[in-house]
Amino acid sequence: MTTATHAATYDDRNPATGEVIAQIPESSHDDVDRAVRAARAAFDGGKWSSMAASRRAKIINKMAALIAERANELMLTEVRDNGKAVATAKGEMGAIVDCFEFYAGAATKNYGETMPPPLPTYLANTVREPVGVVGAIIPWNFPLLLASWKVAPALAAGCTVVLKPAPSTPLTAIELGKIALEAGVPEGVLNVVTGSGREVGQWLVEHPLVDKIAFTGSTATGKLVAKTAAETLKRVTLELGGKSPSIVFDDANLDAAVAAAIYGIYYNAGQACEARSRVLVQKNVYDRFVADFTERAKNVRVGNPEDPQTQVGAITIPEQFEKIRSYCEIGKSEGARLLLGGERAQVEGANANGMFWSVTAYEADASARIAREEIFGPVVTFVPFADEAEAIAIANASEYGLSASVWSENIGRANRVARAIRSGTVAINTPYAVFPGVPFGGYKQSGYGRELGIETMRLYSETKSVLTYIGEKPLNPFGV
Ligand code: NAD
Repeated sequence: MTTATHAATYDDRNPATGEVIAQIPESSHDDVDRAVRAARAAFDGGKWSSMAASRRAKIINKMAALIAERANELMLTEVRDNGKAVATAKGEMGAIVDCFEFYAGAATKNYGETMPPPLPTYLANTVREPVGVVGAIIPWNFPLLLASWKVAPALAAGCTVVLKPAPSTPLTAIELGKIALEAGVPEGVLNVVTGSGREVGQWLVEHPLVDKIAFTGSTATGKLVAKTAAETLKRVTLELGGKSPSIVFDDANLDAAVAAAIYGIYYNAGQACEARSRVLVQKNVYDRFVADFTERAKNVRVGNPEDPQTQVGAITIPEQFEKIRSYCEIGKSEGARLLLGGERAQVEGANANGMFWSVTAYEADASARIAREEIFGPVVTFVPFADEAEAIAIANASEYGLSASVWSENIGRANRVARAIRSGTVAINTPYAVFPGVPFGGYKQSGYGRELGIETMRLYSETKSVLTYIGEKPLNPFGV
């Protein structure tokens, strides 16, 4: 194992207390280059990419087992680094283990195909080969979870990886690197570089020896990544922002829909790409729904992330805290009606550096900025609609298309609306819609490519066509 040579470090802070919890290397250009070259050498050396898929699968399963064994320790590290509630982090650990196990299984199923012979004397088939060196860039909201969504399929396909966590939440990515080595992943196959996006991330995207960039983050950065990667024609997958709607019809189980709407926006303090940050409610049940939501949301426990009773922890980075505050100002200035929260949350025992925001709800016009733009915090906007056609029109009037929910006991209507919604995922009558095995990703400006699916293996592979001549008479096209 080699580490950064560059002497510079930065402070990594606990967002709930402001306390410095680690010194993190600010990787230099040379560090990034060494990590990429290590990944390149490991890939070209073939130890991993040419290893029997069944053996790779065993090693990835071992990673899953080690993560399960250390779930408590990883969970606490994540909580202190990110500020999320320990109950949220606990759920993520289970999902991370499931993700590694799913892709361990997928490693032996990255099948090619056999084509009908293009000529009677031909055999034609395809094989799936690993795409090469993958630069995996992840955000700060689900650090280890989103790393696992990229690292597990990349390793399963036989790729090598340079993983760049967000500067504010690097700790569990570093642990993942150690776990990989301990599980038997050869040296150089999984490398972790820490540091800023504008430098370390940018260098990784520019590096000519990287074959693919798998990026999760904001739409603005995603566009920059795609542009930069185009210079070297890297393969790119982008998981970007969202402004996902919940659509509640008058025939829905309103009790369940309210509970799901509360969870859908306040889970992970609203710092979730698929957060249901717009709730569209049919006019004849609108007042009842909003009143019930507002009453019940008051019981959501915002507090010390390490307290197992806490449901909503801290906001992870100061820039995000400011963004939430500024959107609440925007809401006020554009005449949105504040129903709940809208201010810093008072958390018992927290010091002045703790970044907590109260669970917040507004009623606004569908055209208001707070109803259209991604806030990425615990802020929901209610919008009433008259009928199915209007609900679909409002839901689709967004630059994003990541996720949506539909609530209706009329299964025909729920599925009609699901079909009309332009987004990568539609959940009908459930708050849970993200599972290994079920593709996750965006339409429109929410990005391209899918994570978590079996098809994700294709995004870490190239297709090679192999054509074999099986005729008795040798071919001589020029008759020479
Ligand atoms: P961000 O775009 O600021 O940063 C994401 C990552 O990119 C970080 O590691 C950052 O250091 C790096 N980066 C920044 N500039 C870069 C550059 N020029 N070149 C290469 N890398 C660079 O996003 P964020 O604030 O960390 O995360 C929040 C955003 O992520 C939200 O928009 C959210 O919706 C989105 N997100 C999407 C998904 C999804 O699956 N669709 C999941 C989680 C978060």
